[in-house]
Amino acid sequence: MSLTEEITEYGLELGFDGVGFAATDPFDGLLQALQERGEGYRWAEGLLQLSEAAAPRVLMPGARTLIVLVYDYHKLAFPPELLGMAGRVYLARLYLGKTRIFGSRLRLFKKFLEQKGMTVEVRRTLPDRQAAVRAGLGTFGRNTFVHVPGHGSFVAFVVMAVDADLGGSSDEVSSRCPEDCNRCIEACPTGALYEPFKMDPLRCIAFQTYSAGNFPGTPPDIPPEIREKMGRWVYGCDICQEVCPRNRRRLRQTLPPDAYLAEIAPHFTLENLLLMDEQFYRSRVQPLLYGYIWEKKFLQRNAAIALGNSGDEAALKHLRLSLGDEEPLVRRYSAWAAGRIGGGKGRKLLERQLKSESDPGVLSEIRIALEKL
Ligand code: SF4
Ligand code: SF4
Repeated sequence: MSLTEEITEYGLELGFDGVGFAATDPFDGLLQALQERGEGYRWAEGLLQLSEAAAPRVLMPGARTLIVLVYDYHKLAFPPELLGMAGRVYLARLYLGKTRIFGSRLRLFKKFLEQKGMTVEVRRTLPDRQAAVRAGLGTFGRNTFVHVPGHGSFVAFVVMAVDADLGGSSDEVSSRCPEDCNRCIEACPTGALYEPFKMDPLRCIAFQTYSAGNFPGTPPDIPPEIREKMGRWVYGCDICQEVCPRNRRRLRQTLPPDAYLAEIAPHFTLENLLLMDEQFYRSRVQPLLYGYIWEKKFLQRNAAIALGNSGDEAALKHLRLSLGDEEPLVRRYSAWAAGRIGGGKGRKLLERQLKSESDPGVLSEIRIALEKL
């Protein structure tokens, strides 16, 4: 058995769904995309060091091969009431420190490589999708996700660099999307997928739910035209993967229930998120988020937007309470949501808040909302 076969066999034994090997040459396509679309990715330069990560040997001079592990996170059933609210990748608790892909499974894999005499560096900033494609594990879809044969695109990758030459592939396989398929682009509510294989993160619902105001260098606010198109999504967005025929078979499979999700689903409602206290956030919400949303106010904001988009007058009683929240961001988006629901009751709520509100940002949001009614 060759060394790469041994490594592959061990990775599969540990529960990963695929193992591949890629050369460490710079990812020229990614570098070019970053140069061409710098504006949309400026926020990521400091945070993810994208340009450096696109040249693995600059980031890690000893790197000779990238090893890519695939993990299919669509193995347990997601409660239907949570779908359309939070992306499957988050519901699967994929990136939590001690579970799934970065926990003991990965430690054992690393140890195995080290026992073979290799130095191993795991960097979360390495371009995982590009490395997976280069390793021959899958192909890019027009929705920019990587589709792995037999698994679809609800997969995650872990990339590590080793100092051994394992004959990693440097092929860039072209897409296997059906020629006439454009479903993901047509279904994207915000036009974030503006061309095949091109996505503008600043227009992407998923990006806006966790980045706006939260990550350094990202826009402080979710633009009103994006808010209106967010529907019920409060964390992530799966639309461009859900409509993809390459995921159809997986999405139709009957899977065993996820006991943890089934237990928390009844509590994970929009009104509970909007009105949550710190204890609810820490015990019920944070365990799903693996630290992307660092303060509960951002999730409360997203819940306010989702309630506003419901257009349901019954949501106004929850918004009346959140208009009393101590956090101006929550009050501001609650005002937006009340205006979005509108009607006589929405107007009355906003007029009442106008008399007691002192924060200039909230006052401005209330006035804008009232002008539109
Ligand atoms: S995740 Fe949602 S908003 Fe983002 S590109 Fe896909 S469909 Fe569009
Ligand atoms: S929806 Fe169609 S075009 Fe988009 S990724 Fe899937 S197969 Fe490709």
